[in-house]
Amino acid sequence: MSFRFQLEARDGKARAARFCTPHGEVETPVFMPVGTVATVKGMPQDTLEELGVQILLNNTYHLYLRPGVEMIRRLGGVQKFMAWDRPILTDSGGFQVFSLSDLRKVNEEGVQFRSHLDGSSHFFSPESAIAAQIGLGADIIMAFDECTEHPAEYARTKSSMEMTLRWAQRSRKYFEEHKQEVPWFVERGEQTQTLFGIVQGGMFVDLRRESAQRTVEMDFPGYAIGGLSVGEPRSMTYEMVDAAIRFLPEDKPRYLMGVGTPEEIVQYAAQGVDMMDCVLPTRAARHGLLFTSEGRITIKNARYAADETPLDPNCGCKVCARYSRAYLRHLYASNELLAQVLNTIHNLAHYLTTMRGVRQAIARGQFAHLLAQVSPPPATLLTAGHQQRRL
Ligand SMILES: [Zn+2]
Repeated sequence: MSFRFQLEARDGKARAARFCTPHGEVETPVFMPVGTVATVKGMPQDTLEELGVQILLNNTYHLYLRPGVEMIRRLGGVQKFMAWDRPILTDSGGFQVFSLSDLRKVNEEGVQFRSHLDGSSHFFSPESAIAAQIGLGADIIMAFDECTEHPAEYARTKSSMEMTLRWAQRSRKYFEEHKQEVPWFVERGEQTQTLFGIVQGGMFVDLRRESAQRTVEMDFPGYAIGGLSVGEPRSMTYEMVDAAIRFLPEDKPRYLMGVGTPEEIVQYAAQGVDMMDCVLPTRAARHGLLFTSEGRITIKNARYAADETPLDPNCGCKVCARYSRAYLRHLYASNELLAQVLNTIHNLAHYLTTMRGVRQAIARGQFAHLLAQVSPPPATLLTAGHQQRRL
């Protein structure tokens, strides 16, 4: 079996589960740090292992442009290339390509786009995006979808969703015909990658439902919810997640793409999401924004210049164990490389600890208690949150 998903506990809508891939096991709910170009910026792989990172996300678009799919295939796949012997997930490249709004043309066949590196012209279709992901060799790969822009009218969102459904069929067909070409097929006992479908449907409840139902009819081993966290109010994100998730099967993983803050990832877990990824903890760290158990800290503030206390007294990470806020502020103010490294270690530790807490709470049936401790949810969530508490 190349992929096995097993539910272990439920608490309200939240679930604790685990899945197996050819490069190891992952416990959910899980937060996946983003390693855009096969590196989590500033983090050596052994540091990620120490932090307990179970699965990383890589971006197909970036690796396709540099160093190129063929190079990574020849080097044994992206796990071997980056010396990371744990699971990896790649996106389809769609999201990056669609963010190049001035540099792309979309039609039924696929997307013509220009490289942000050198302006060279490229084309992604469902078939070529899957071929690229097979060459890279991540354990979990994504169907090629159109991430509908926000805001978008109903008719435009519906036709975009319809195209994503047709592209899902094409992605799946190409994958089934070529999945044995993954670089580690023989080495990993003839296991293959796992292809997830993606639910779109913009900001319309009925389109989210229809997209979920019709994607589920294609019977993928896992489902992503895409096209959210693209500038809409957070209450709408929660509403769209709920609209989609109620039509996704209980016995398959649900992956909400590109979210969120430490408070939000707890809320999404409460809605029944199993997997999340976001650049926020790593990007914010590089800009000196640190997430702690007591709220956010902008480390460059002068008030920390003589502060001898640790960044977060409740954090067990090696940065908080050793360094003072005064030193971290000095490193940041001096534009030292170590500032980015230490800040990133702490922010990732905070996210991973948050998720570990979520898993434990679900397993013990105490998730409602944990949910109540995170910052107050937006007013629109209060009703849903209340229902999730199994009262
Ligand atoms: Zn820390």
